[in-house]
Amino acid sequence: MDQSLSSDLLPVQEAVNPEAIDEAPPAPRSFLDRLFDRGLLIRTGVDGLYGRSGAFESVVEALDRLVSRIGAADGAEALRFPPGMARSSFERSGYLKGFPHLAGTVHSFCGNETDHARLLACLDAGEDWTAKQAATDIVLTPAACYPLYPVAAARGRLPEGGLLFDLQSYCFRHEPSLEPTRMQLFRMREYVRMGTPEQVLAFRELWLERGTTMMRDLGLPLAIDPANDPFFGRAGKMLANNQRAQALKFELNVPVNSEDKPTACLSFNYHQDHFGTTWGIEQADGTTAHTACVGFGLERITLALLRHHGLDLDAWPAEVRAQLFG
Ligand code: ATP
Ligand code: ZN
Ligand code: MG
Repeated sequence: MDQSLSSDLLPVQEAVNPEAIDEAPPAPRSFLDRLFDRGLLIRTGVDGLYGRSGAFESVVEALDRLVSRIGAADGAEALRFPPGMARSSFERSGYLKGFPHLAGTVHSFCGNETDHARLLACLDAGEDWTAKQAATDIVLTPAACYPLYPVAAARGRLPEGGLLFDLQSYCFRHEPSLEPTRMQLFRMREYVRMGTPEQVLAFRELWLERGTTMMRDLGLPLAIDPANDPFFGRAGKMLANNQRAQALKFELNVPVNSEDKPTACLSFNYHQDHFGTTWGIEQADGTTAHTACVGFGLERITLALLRHHGLDLDAWPAEVRAQLFG
């Protein structure tokens, strides 16, 4: 067991107030509470929706740069999309088949003046004011690579050797939680490879190695484990089993909230020809392209660093600081 993590889980010592001596001892502060106490995360009143301090952001930005440095020689094409994507693309992507429970859609007021008066009256009365909200053409991006596939498909056949993209986006998933590592809006950095099965599997192997080295060099205990996506419902169980049986997804796990349930900080996904077929992405010879992506959870890695090296960035080990800020 990792010593620093287990001692970190001990209750924080509070000064004894003699008048409160008969009261129950104070409950230990959770990791999330301590992040709030330090101002590293800022409460909004919604679980999983947080502001972040300048110090927290400096780590997120340093990680983003570190990932860029590691991948620099590969010549990936950098693209940045806003955190919303076309609803039509989202519908075609198949996300609603697998993950209807995580999706977030953007709705807007589409009523007339009477509807507006009603909206304000409901608001005043503390009643539901959303009746005249209708779905817009935008949904929130669920994973950084989702807006990419239709764009790549529209360019026509892949060149010989395939394509490699560098992405980063805020992503939304409706999974409110008290675990600070499970946010509803968070940033995902990704590299996405498109090409032959051999090309995309070699890419995934390479990043399994690189990701492991990167996280080790950051002083984090880790394990690479087979994984599955959280598919919805009974049919989802089969999809999840299939994903594991075919070794399509691996995660790099670090204990952050607890030793028993480590947190996926990086994921390595082989989609086979799923997106190639869905979007009509073709290789140079006209056959359907295969795709794979590696995803870095920027807030999750930041939280792993805070958990293992402490909440004071200046006191982090010199080697770790050198990797990030050197
Ligand atoms: P989990 O198994 O914990 O639900 P996931 O397998 O669904 O995560 P992916 O879909 O593979 O995650 O997303 C890529 C990366 O994005 C993850 O490795 C993780 O670092 C990060 N990530 C995913 N969900 C969240 C979240 N709710 N909050 C913060 N980071 C997240
Ligand atoms: Zn992806
Ligand atoms: Mg997972």
